Amino acid sequence: MHIFKEIEPLKVFLKQKKAVQQTIGLVPTMGALHAGHLSLITASKSQNHVTVCSLYVNPTQFNNASDLEKYPRTLPQDIALLEKAGCEVLFSPADHEMYGQPGQLKFDFGQLDKILEGQFRPGHFSGVALVVSKLFHIVQPDNAYFGKKDFQQLRIVSLLAEELKFGIRLHGVATLREPDGLAMSSRNARLNAADRQKATIFFSSLRMAKEALKANIALTEVRKRVHQAFESAPGTRLEYFEAADHENLTLFENVKEPSRTVLLIAGFVGAVRLIDNMMID
Ligand code: AMP
Repeated sequence: MHIFKEIEPLKVFLKQKKAVQQTIGLVPTMGALHAGHLSLITASKSQNHVTVCSLYVNPTQFNNASDLEKYPRTLPQDIALLEKAGCEVLFSPADHEMYGQPGQLKFDFGQLDKILEGQFRPGHFSGVALVVSKLFHIVQPDNAYFGKKDFQQLRIVSLLAEELKFGIRLHGVATLREPDGLAMSSRNARLNAADRQKATIFFSSLRMAKEALKANIALTEVRKRVHQAFESAPGTRLEYFEAADHENLTLFENVKEPSRTVLLIAGFVGAVRLIDNMMID
């Protein structure tokens, strides 16, 4: 695997590949890689000659200094996993390479970045859009791969790519889960054994809500049940549970078209914040 820490040598390398008509797939990550990330690498490898994995813990998307500080960093292990997965290129820049000066540019996606994650993590999506824009400009891939695990992020990045005419094909990859349903996440590594057990509440709540909504139980009642589930599980705290249109993320008061509906949930187990989502059909 070719490892680049600087932008210019990476650009020179990719220019040579593009000159001989090789296609480039980009998989942006913040490292602490797990099988979910590797499924994005696999998807990219199946559709491109060269897969570039970027590994960068982007400070501008953290609205909480302690979350940034505690974010797991496991570079040697990540390199081994990427080598094994057959990833051709790793781009792992330092802060000064990505941000010559503190990021000033702000993005506003209207309602889309004010709801759900945007409501609880103000400025988060502006930081995501900033770093993804930088990566798109640096790598200029043909394809880019994002997980449906971060459902709202996928919508934000799609809007960004469309509005700024990046000309990059985006691919949403299904969420990979642990056998008990917990969505794989770098943050899971921060859970102690007891909290790891409790973390299944996100998946079980989504599944319960999905079944109830399919049985025509009203969203207000389902919402109540999800809140109750968290209230009766010590050490957990629900931040939001919402039903929304899967394309534009308009929030629903009631579910009229289950097949267009995505359920989104976020909250804490101990000090660790987790998110998850599920399509009704
Ligand atoms: P992160 O390193 O958390 O920024 O994630 C990098 C990419 O991997 C994002 O596009 C995520 O949506 C995706 N991802 C994270 N967890 C999973 C998962 N469990 N299954 C599939 N993709 C995932």
